[in-house]
Amino acid sequence: MANFTVPNDKLKMHECPLAVIKCVDFRFRKTDQEFVERGLGFDDFDLYSWPGAAKDVLKNNGFKTDFVDKIVSVSIGLHKVKKLLLLWHWDCGGYGGSKAFPSADEEESIYLRDMRTVKEMLVRELPDDLEIIMAYSKSAPQGLEYKVVE
Ligand SMILES: [Zn+2]
Repeated sequence: MANFTVPNDKLKMHECPLAVIKCVDFRFRKTDQEFVERGLGFDDFDLYSWPGAAKDVLKNNGFKTDFVDKIVSVSIGLHKVKKLLLLWHWDCGGYGGSKAFPSADEEESIYLRDMRTVKEMLVRELPDDLEIIMAYSKSAPQGLEYKVVE
């Protein structure tokens, strides 16, 4: 393959306002990016992607330690990030998918419960001036519906 060059006007930038952790699931990659850019209004963000988004923080193990360390040293330390978005999605393979739940309502309530628990765990570890926000996407007749979670 010949060299492949892509224009990039961000290379001289050093700071961005947001870090995102989301699931690796390819089905959500483009729409997640569109939600963060057009839905939330952030053109620039550090992206962390892992199966189940930040679900593995619940294990309270090395994943949590490493994730917190990178948020502090890279996203806050280098890029001066002010917010962290936890982004979960419906039908997540990290949970066994929708089929692992008795109903759609139950599925959503488990995701939201886990996301809130992860937020509580991260709040204890991360600097006070980092705001942690949460969002969730689920299927809707026209595609995916994203909502910010309180
Ligand atoms: Zn997933």
